[in-house]
Amino acid sequence: LLTIDNVVKRFDDTTILDGISFSVKKSEVIVIVGPSGCGKSTLLRCINALEPIQEGSITLDGDVIERNSKTLPLLRQRIGMVFQSYDLFPHLTVLDNILLAPCKVQKRDKEEVKQEAMSLLERVGLKEKAKSYPRELSGGQKQRVAIVRALCMHPEILLFDEVTAALDPEMVREVLDVMLDLAKQGRTMLIVTHEMQFARAIADRIIFLDNGKIVEEATPDEFFDNPKTERAKQFLNTFE
Ligand code: ATP
Ligand code: MG
Repeated sequence: LLTIDNVVKRFDDTTILDGISFSVKKSEVIVIVGPSGCGKSTLLRCINALEPIQEGSITLDGDVIERNSKTLPLLRQRIGMVFQSYDLFPHLTVLDNILLAPCKVQKRDKEEVKQEAMSLLERVGLKEKAKSYPRELSGGQKQRVAIVRALCMHPEILLFDEVTAALDPEMVREVLDVMLDLAKQGRTMLIVTHEMQFARAIADRIIFLDNGKIVEEATPDEFFDNPKTERAKQFLNTFE
């Protein structure tokens, strides 16, 4: 579904992504792990063309994702993204935050999207918060709203960048459970996380990134029980 081919990303003279290649198949869940600053967020931003790349290509179902291309807005609608900071609009209710893009950008029928939004909110345990404003929600609740908002666009793939990193420990679980539920439903996801137990539980494949390169790509059992490189062993030791 998504193919990353030999992607090179530089900021000025510094190479941040140094020839990254991998692909994500439909219904696959891939988790990217690696030390701080290794380029995980940059990689997700390149996939959404929020950052230009200098070499290589990124394709979604055969369509090239390029900045400045006419098809980019349509391609972006097929990619759902959830960040660490949920960036909900503070002056809109939960429901209006969710309805905004499907109604304004995709021009879908408001009643239909509303029904879908309400059933998704119910699924993440937030039906009664539809009329609340973001400031009235906890961090975990806001993050679940951000996930529902992404889902309502009917994306083909979901990108998650450390969605629990800003949350208090007791709220992390509720967000991770929603993501596990999405994986069970067969959603295609590319997840960046520092939660190693969660990574192991949800991933079909783990990609270990270091210094802008893929150092290991393995099943969760292989990666966590038998890391092949010294670098991965060191990295995993920091979580013991
Ligand atoms: P973390 O786990 O801390 O979130 P990360 O793996 O997501 O780290 P990135 O945010 O992708 O790391 O950053 C990778 C490198 O690129 C870092 O060295 C960072 O300083 C650099 N970088 C990121 N954005 C820019 C930018 N806009 N201009 C210049 N350098 C940048
Ligand atoms: Mg990051």
